[in-house]
Amino acid sequence: MLNQLTISELTTKLARGETSARQTLQACLDQIQRVDDRVHAFLSHDAADALAQADAADQELAGGGSGKPLLGVPIAIKDVIAVKNQPLNCASKILGDFISPYDAAVIEKLRAAGAVVFGRLNMDEFAMGSSTENSAFGLTRNPWDLTRIPGGSSGGSAAAVAADECLASLGSDTGGSIRQPAALCGCVGLKPTYGRVSRYGLVAFASSLDQIGPFTKDVRDAAILLGVLSGHDLRDSTSVALPVPDYAAALTGDLKGLKLGLAREYLVDGLDPEVKAAVNAAVKQYEKLGAEIVEVSLPHTEYAVATYYIVATAEASANLARFDGVRYCERVAGGDLIEMYSRTRGAGFGPEVKRRIILGTYVLSGGYHDAYYLRAQKVRTLIRNDFLKAFETVDAILTPTTPTAAFKAGEKSGDPLQMYLSDIFTISCNLAGICGLSLPCGFTGNTQPRLPIGLQLLGKPFGEETLLKLAHAYEQSAGWHKEKPPLASA
Ligand code: GLN
Repeated sequence: MLNQLTISELTTKLARGETSARQTLQACLDQIQRVDDRVHAFLSHDAADALAQADAADQELAGGGSGKPLLGVPIAIKDVIAVKNQPLNCASKILGDFISPYDAAVIEKLRAAGAVVFGRLNMDEFAMGSSTENSAFGLTRNPWDLTRIPGGSSGGSAAAVAADECLASLGSDTGGSIRQPAALCGCVGLKPTYGRVSRYGLVAFASSLDQIGPFTKDVRDAAILLGVLSGHDLRDSTSVALPVPDYAAALTGDLKGLKLGLAREYLVDGLDPEVKAAVNAAVKQYEKLGAEIVEVSLPHTEYAVATYYIVATAEASANLARFDGVRYCERVAGGDLIEMYSRTRGAGFGPEVKRRIILGTYVLSGGYHDAYYLRAQKVRTLIRNDFLKAFETVDAILTPTTPTAAFKAGEKSGDPLQMYLSDIFTISCNLAGICGLSLPCGFTGNTQPRLPIGLQLLGKPFGEETLLKLAHAYEQSAGWHKEKPPLASA
């Protein structure tokens, strides 16, 4: 089935004339028709617009192709990234029927590479959450077990790839929102180094932490997509003017001389024994593949969740001020200007977004700024320094992506602190600004149906080549990426 192919498999077939972009897109649309009433990965998709893009790709292919790396490849987009003339809601009611007037930088890049850009993928409202239960438009379900959550906030992006509703997707990661859902849905998710990918056209949650990245069916596809998405952009002053390597060329399978760090601080209470066993097995596999395993220490890890929930909420409270009923939003009129703001924001934002705005405003307020925000910034530097020190001796650090496999819908939604702890292994990476990748490393045995488990690799700033090389070698020897949820092919 064409919708099950990887990007590299499809582009080979297209180049040989064995299939067309239209047929491939149609296979994805058929799959959406067949499974998405159960999975609900998509908020909407504009089939006519996507088919027109596919036809244009087929014309280019008929003319001999153009060397574009994604020509004819259908890629779906999280509802927080602007796509011209398509809805942009951030899974929130507050934006009403807002249509984006422009393409995000990453969308321009996908289009220039020939991709068929389609669909709006479900997420936690404004990317705040770990289960996609905070969407204003209903749950996304985990394709491996429909009673469970797909992770979040990019739950739709992970579920759509796992259920073969698209070949790959884009998500955003502020504290784990790419890696955590990738782990829980059994796909590959990559958070690039801060500055590697332009955030122009990404609706900001926490600007010093946000980064866009790919969800894919294997590591090679993540390398291909990262190559397309990366690069300097004058419209995002935090994007970095470093050359973009040929990431796929790094996938040599040769791990000789590479050192992988194991951080003892990541063996926390609450780490599920099956997750621990799967990660330990991966460590053994890496040794067989020729990597050297070294113990490292990241002593400030225990402060990461608290630090994140100060920094991220502070930035969110400032970023979300623009949703005021004047510049954006469904206005709820009444009273004076202040009254109109509060009615609009009161009606439009969901409870988690309100909680974050209130928390963030508090930690920035006079008298508390130094005690909370300033202190959190200092701890953030200590967390980054822990990593930079560890990277003096190791090439990458290996951890579980999440403490448990996917949990049941409703299980943690009443307890924000429990929910925040599901990001315990992913958050430090954003605070430190380094890169991180999650890939499948096995399945649970004691749940029925079985659930995917994710392995996280954390890399040096701009060390994505090493991460991808390490991930690819393990993936090819372990073969977990070939497993599909029964729903995808039934
Ligand atoms: N789950 C984390 C949060 O709720 C991270 C979200 C994200 O990475 N966008 O903030």
